[in-house]
Amino acid sequence: MWTCIDYQIDFLLFAACCVGGLMTLRRWLQRRRRDGMAFDTCLVLSMLVLVAGYFCLCSVDREQRDNLINHMNAFASTYAGELEKLGHSNVPDDVDPETSDYQRLEDAQRRWLEANSFLSDIYTLRRSTSGRTVLVVDSATDYNRNGIIDDPREERTTPGEEYIGFSDPVAASAVSQAFDGYPSFISEPYTDRWGTWVTALHPMLNSDDDVEAIVGVDFPAAVWGRQIFNARLSVIGILAVMESLLLGASAMIAMTRFHLSEQQIAANRLQQFKTTLDQTLDSVFMFSTDNYQCIYVNEGAKQLLGYSEEALLQQTALQIAPKMAAETFAELTSALQSGTHQLFTLETFHRHSHGHDIPVELSLQYVSQSTDRPRFVAIVRDITERRAIEKELMIAARLDRLTGLPNRALFTDRLKQFMERTRKIPGYKFALMFLDFDRFKIVNDSLGHDVGDALLQEIASRLKNNLSTTDSISTLADGTTVSRLGGDEFVVILDDIDGLETACKAANALIAALGEQYQLGDHQVRSTASIGIVCSSPEYERAEDMVRDADTAMYEAKARGKACYVVYDNSMRVAADRRLQTENDLRMAIGTDQIFLDWQPVISLEDGELNGAEALIRWRHPTRGVMNPDLFLPIAEETRMILPISDWVLNAACDQFVRWRAESPTEAPRYVCVNLAYQQLMQPDLAVRVLSVLREHRMQPEQLQLEVKESELMKNRVVAGATLHALATHGIRLAIDDFGTGYSSLACLQEFPFSVLKMDRSFIANLNEGHEVIAVAHSVVTLADNIGISCVAEGIEDPVQLAVLQSMNCSYGQGNFLCPPGPADNIRKKQWLRSHHAASDMLMSDTELQEFSLLTIT
Ligand code: C2E
Ligand code: CA
Ligand code: CA
Repeated sequence: MWTCIDYQIDFLLFAACCVGGLMTLRRWLQRRRRDGMAFDTCLVLSMLVLVAGYFCLCSVDREQRDNLINHMNAFASTYAGELEKLGHSNVPDDVDPETSDYQRLEDAQRRWLEANSFLSDIYTLRRSTSGRTVLVVDSATDYNRNGIIDDPREERTTPGEEYIGFSDPVAASAVSQAFDGYPSFISEPYTDRWGTWVTALHPMLNSDDDVEAIVGVDFPAAVWGRQIFNARLSVIGILAVMESLLLGASAMIAMTRFHLSEQQIAANRLQQFKTTLDQTLDSVFMFSTDNYQCIYVNEGAKQLLGYSEEALLQQTALQIAPKMAAETFAELTSALQSGTHQLFTLETFHRHSHGHDIPVELSLQYVSQSTDRPRFVAIVRDITERRAIEKELMIAARLDRLTGLPNRALFTDRLKQFMERTRKIPGYKFALMFLDFDRFKIVNDSLGHDVGDALLQEIASRLKNNLSTTDSISTLADGTTVSRLGGDEFVVILDDIDGLETACKAANALIAALGEQYQLGDHQVRSTASIGIVCSSPEYERAEDMVRDADTAMYEAKARGKACYVVYDNSMRVAADRRLQTENDLRMAIGTDQIFLDWQPVISLEDGELNGAEALIRWRHPTRGVMNPDLFLPIAEETRMILPISDWVLNAACDQFVRWRAESPTEAPRYVCVNLAYQQLMQPDLAVRVLSVLREHRMQPEQLQLEVKESELMKNRVVAGATLHALATHGIRLAIDDFGTGYSSLACLQEFPFSVLKMDRSFIANLNEGHEVIAVAHSVVTLADNIGISCVAEGIEDPVQLAVLQSMNCSYGQGNFLCPPGPADNIRKKQWLRSHHAASDMLMSDTELQEFSLLTIT
């Protein structure tokens, strides 16, 4: 059995070595990215060889074994015949070894052994009558083959002794088979006390053809195994040669395949590269380094320039980009070649096959690889669209988006050009007009930004139309620039005018055109323009200075009652600087005691009792002394400083009221009057703010009177109305201030929740002047009485005015004659009128008054 496994183990070992080797080789090749496919084919082949080798080995093994057995059997059979002939049957079991019969047999045996040195022993066995197997002839055997019988094992076994070799059952059965007359072979090596053997057994016959004895031929198992192993070894050797041939071949193929596939990969890559280049939107050109000859173009390049590939390959780089100077190109390329630059990106033009030039962005590189010729690669992008967008953007950046007019940047550029011309051309003049719209802010605030925008657009188009079509200025149309600087500020440059007169005419025409009603969707709006004009002068160095002066003149126009123009003169600069100074000083003054309140009592004209007290803001300027509100409140309004100032006034007024009440509740005024600024009126949360101040001071709503100028009320009736209603619902007294100056209809007294009407002091001042004014004042008093609100006459300056008002039954009055504004201590409950009784003789009779009223109504 073990002999069978034996060669399988050999084979398995060998196969394992082969497979191991192949796998290692494969991994190694793979690591070097050799072609695995060819190798795998070899691997399969070598497996097939191994399987074939296995069967070959099996058959060689079997054959070798059979050969050996036959060989041994042949020996045994020959010796049996020979021994029979030599008269073995005549030798008894217990023969004396010295007898000549025995000696003859033994000699023959010795000779055979000497002739076949690979045999260990030849002996004969016989079955004794007692059934034991006894040895008959056994030569003294030189086991160790050293020429002498020196080993005890080599001594001759005594004939007739029981043979004890075949204790192994397989051996025993082979022995009995031989005794039965059949040659047998013990091929499974068995061991006795002399060694391990395989043995051929052959029966020997006597003259009656009966099995008389058997001959045994021993063969050392080791030699036997070696013989078989040698046979296998030759097969395995052949296999090994074949396998190594296969391995070598596969490795070689893999290596060459690698080489091939490298090339193929390179070719594939090139193809891919070309396809990619063709698919890119950019155009790619390659030029030779010596004469800039085109050596490659992609699809994009052909499309860009409208040439075929052949036509392009006949051109040079400079023919493709003819606007590029040859020297420039040479400089670029040599910088690339020398390695000082890796890449140049530049903008140039490429000539199309139709002859026109295409603006392109070009990236130029130098490519040199050991495997290939060096070349220049140009990646080119069509930037026609980009250029167009840039141009558009550039224009857009200099135009006002809303009106399409030039913006401040473009205007400033143009203005500079005009100024330059003034310096260079003697007698050349131009005028700069600065326009501001008197009601734009109100429209924007009350009707919303969309309507505000529409107004600006309409203004812009009226400006354009009037400057180009109005007769008086049509001659100026060519050089006229109209721009919007931002908000409602527009500027106009009137080019090449004869003199100031032309500019004034143009301004008048504009004021008329711009003052007409605007139809903005559902809204009808009126807005007037104030215009400042400044004439060019070589003295102006900076555009900003000229604009600043036009702006100053515009402010002056506003101050002079709007809807007019003013020509700049230097005195205005002083005023403007002063304004700016005031603004800065005021900013510093907020929150300090420079700002304080004066108080003027509101007195009952019936009995001279103190009724209320009006808070009037004052500013004690460090250098200019105490300033009245007219001097600084407009600036505060413009700069929105009015809001923090107003908050302070409301708080300070309430503080004072609480103090008066605390000092003497009977002498204190019944309420305080606080003037509201326009911006306060536009605060949606004004009522909430006022209520919280009242709550803080534990004041009742009716202890506060808020006064709103009629003119300001009319700027934005909608928002103002909402604010006033909110205040009124909480019980706060509301007064319409300066009544009679704001062009409001009397009906508005019913529209808004006023409880007090303060007649403007212009009425009162003119009372002395005649009956007409008295009649108007009287009608106002009567009206207030009729609709149930109290009337306060402002600015009573003399006893006559007082008397007239008293005769009209005007309930309340304020004025320097009664008590000029002053510190809070002045306000005490006292009989203000007592000292003025002398005036009572001036009172008009009722009939006189009636007469005057009728006069005005008709
Ligand atoms: P107003 O509300 O009509 O205030 C009355 C103005 O008339 C006060 O001028 C007062 O000094 C002046 N006045 C009083 N009696 C006479 C008189 O007999 N003759 C003459 N010619 N004038 C007299 P003032 O203090 O300069 O205030 C002017 C305007 O400033 C006020 O007119 C008011 O609208 C506004 N104002 C005053 N204080 C404040 C304030 O705290 N906030 C707001 N928003 N406006 C205020
Ligand atoms: Ca007032
Ligand atoms: Ca007033």
